[in-house]
Amino acid sequence: MEILKGIPVSPGFAIGEAFILDSEESVIPRRFISQPEVETEVTRFHAAVEKAKADIRELQRRVSDEIGEEAAPIFDAHVMILSDKPLHDEVLGRIRNNRFAAEYAVSRSLRKFEKAFLRTGNSYLAQRITDLRDIEQRMLQALLGERKEEIRQLDRQVVLLAHDLTPSQTAAFDREKVIGFATDVGGMTGHTAIVARAREIPAVVGLGTVSTDVSTGDLVVVDGNRGIVVVNPDEKTMDAYRRMMKDFHVFEEALIGEKDLPAVTLDGCRVSVAANIEFPREIETVLQFGGEGVGLYRTEFLYLESEVEPDEAMHFEAYERAISMVGSLPIAIRTLDLGADKFFHIGKSTVDILHERNPALGCRAIRYCLRYPDVFRKQIRAICRASALGNVKMMIPMVSYCDEVIAVRQMVAEVQERLADEDVPFNPDMPIGIMVEVPSVALTIERFCDHCDFFSIGTNDLTQYVLAADRTNEHVAGLYWPGHPSILRLIREVLEKSAERGIPVSLCGEMAGDAAFVVFLLGLGLRNFSVSPPLIPEVKKLIRYVTLDKAQEVSDHALSLGTSREVMAYLRGVTREYQPNWNFM
Ligand code: PEP
Ligand code: MG
Repeated sequence: MEILKGIPVSPGFAIGEAFILDSEESVIPRRFISQPEVETEVTRFHAAVEKAKADIRELQRRVSDEIGEEAAPIFDAHVMILSDKPLHDEVLGRIRNNRFAAEYAVSRSLRKFEKAFLRTGNSYLAQRITDLRDIEQRMLQALLGERKEEIRQLDRQVVLLAHDLTPSQTAAFDREKVIGFATDVGGMTGHTAIVARAREIPAVVGLGTVSTDVSTGDLVVVDGNRGIVVVNPDEKTMDAYRRMMKDFHVFEEALIGEKDLPAVTLDGCRVSVAANIEFPREIETVLQFGGEGVGLYRTEFLYLESEVEPDEAMHFEAYERAISMVGSLPIAIRTLDLGADKFFHIGKSTVDILHERNPALGCRAIRYCLRYPDVFRKQIRAICRASALGNVKMMIPMVSYCDEVIAVRQMVAEVQERLADEDVPFNPDMPIGIMVEVPSVALTIERFCDHCDFFSIGTNDLTQYVLAADRTNEHVAGLYWPGHPSILRLIREVLEKSAERGIPVSLCGEMAGDAAFVVFLLGLGLRNFSVSPPLIPEVKKLIRYVTLDKAQEVSDHALSLGTSREVMAYLRGVTREYQPNWNFM
């Protein structure tokens, strides 16, 4: 049994067979052979080695024509590894003694070598791991060709292990087959983690080397509450997990039983709890969990899921569908937030990605939209048309300057004028607001009050930009704390200044759905929460436990503390006072 520690990003437990997803979205089949097939597999292995060597030599020729002999040592090293006697002995032993099919034997053997390289602590050998992975891919290609098992064709339930997963891969998994996942890299508020929570897929990220430490076919437990992956658990551990799964289920069922009770404090203050979504289809879940609208609709997922560049009709269809499901409840359609960890690749499309060195600080979201007005105008037209159908607001992400809001308002006015000429209905009073997620906006919020109908605080990005800690990078996860005093003070500033000007504020970062912060945010004056759908019942329940006086006392005390650690310890303690069973996240 082996226990690996990472970052818990999506609660719940998954126990099942591990499947390693390689970069080509395929998994290595765990296939066994019978005694008479042994020599055939040995021959397949030798043939694959020869084919892989020939492929490398061919590649070497092409590369040296382009860049000269500079890269030759890399190719020579790969050919040498492929001829390595200990590697051959290892693979042949697994075929002959364990009756592994050649591809399974190759994969397990190379992963054993990778682990051994890592254990030496020698940085030169550790760097050679990419070479071993490259060789593994080449051998699997030679052995399986097109026959690699595709994740889309899985016929059983698995726990996926991968180096990394993109948000769109996570959104596309068949939820019936993928019961949990774990990755080497990633952070708490990266979009992959956000999608996992929304889809209720237990997940742990930032494990470092899970995708190489574990082999396809191992039994694994993903503990999304504590951020642990257990490989080949013993019976005692399995029993403990079976019990925890049962308790977690009871806890969740109890919450769901109260989902339709409103979020009203003990002294009668009504709070709204809406949801964050990536796709219109999620609205069904939002309503099932007692959500009171959509506080954030991340429309860029329309691009991430699409094979072609979405046109105005595709935008409009998606919004029309969302509005038909949400009815008269409010829905904040956020304009495209492409860039950072969300890219869209379609050949030479107008929305092809810019190759930036630092995309989180680059041409992302509104910067991208203003740079490509033709792309943006399609979306604005669709949102304006949709505004005639329901309670629609338009929300702009990643604003850092007032000029950006002014430019968007100008574009909206032009689009509305055109729609009026064409006799197409729209709501001329559609509220237009912004995400407060860049420090410059939070610090000068009063200036934005003149240009915005509402604000929504995006603590996922606000935290990464204030603390200069990439939200998707596991190496700085220990520096990424929404509970840092600087963030708490900025949120207070935004809430106070906006209240003076009568501008409504919601908070749609993951902090709003973190039980530890609910009472604190209420005490600061937040009345609109927007959270991942499965978290709605818990947030509503916590609000029902407190009075505003108590909540204010909690927020005053939290603001007086000097470090994230003190803040978190205090707020977690407060949450447990109200919800003694709350020990799951
Ligand atoms: C945020 O930054 O807090 C937010 C809600 O937006 P996203 O997570 O999509 O960047
Ligand atoms: Mg954001």
